Amino acid sequence: DTVTENERIRDELWGVVYGIWDHIKNSGAFDADSLTLDWVGAIPGKREYRRFVGDHTLTQQDLLSQRTFPDTVAFGGWSIDLHPVEGVYAETAGAQQRYTDGTYDIPFRSLYSADVANLLFAGRNISASHVAFGSTRVMATCATQGQAAGTAAHLAARHGFTPRELGTDHVAMLQQTLLREDAPLIGVRAHDGADLAQRARISASSELVRLDTTPWATADTFALDRDAALVVPVDPVLGSVAFRTVADHDTD
Ligand SMILES: Cc1cc2nc3c(=O)[nH]c(=O)nc-3n(C[C@H](O)[C@H](O)[C@H](O)COP(=O)(O)OP(=O)(O)OC[C@H]3O[C@@H](n4cnc5c(N)ncnc54)[C@H](O)[C@@H]3O)c2cc1C
Repeated sequence: DTVTENERIRDELWGVVYGIWDHIKNSGAFDADSLTLDWVGAIPGKREYRRFVGDHTLTQQDLLSQRTFPDTVAFGGWSIDLHPVEGVYAETAGAQQRYTDGTYDIPFRSLYSADVANLLFAGRNISASHVAFGSTRVMATCATQGQAAGTAAHLAARHGFTPRELGTDHVAMLQQTLLREDAPLIGVRAHDGADLAQRARISASSELVRLDTTPWATADTFALDRDAALVVPVDPVLGSVAFRTVADHDTD
């Protein structure tokens, strides 16, 4: 139990670490007789801990189907990354992954308590299933939630709303404030008339017109001997995109 047995777990892990180190240094099998162990952590890192129940509990299906939430205030993109509860004693693989096709929404309803009127969540303790939490727990994703929860706390205090009132009746206020503060809310448009960026004209001193000008391309072709991604802006209008390929032999 990572809540009540923290020190016992630390001692157990130290036993594992020093036991392995003893084997590495003293078994004679690793040419490590003159090496020394520099540092071992003293606080067990908890991948998973207490989570709280909000008005929505984020699930595996929400992530894998990339469900769109009207009250999206944060996003994730890491795989669902599940580690066996037995830790170092597990006989299964150290991690199992499921992948989404891209980013997914995190709704504000997963960031406040269902039954405590003034409690917000971010990071390790949001309202998510064990499996969904396998993705939402990574640090950059925690940070998007932290910005959303912190901004929500400010707006709730300023206007005298509970988090639920903010999320139910004024979610556009929260989303627009987040966009104004540079939070990327996937699929949510900014409607702030005072935002000069909306009227800005973008120009560039040069443009990339051929892929073969990238450093890893040779001659006239871009060799597909590695994974490559190409982002093509299609909004507002793009007629068509053509790719010309040259294959040395029949292939799919
Ligand atoms: C072994 C391990 C490997 C990981 N690897 C990665 C990785 O490679 N990439 C990645 O992105 N994420 C990784 N994670 C996950 C990620 O680090 C955590 O999910 C994330 O840091 C959680 O952030 P948090 O702010 O919610 O919680 P925490 O970082 O735990 O912050 C909570 C803070 O609250 C403090 N606190 C607790 N109680 C009180 C109190 N009563 N008063 C005041 N302060 C208090 C704690 O001391 C702590 O500083 C890993 C986690 C573990 C355990």
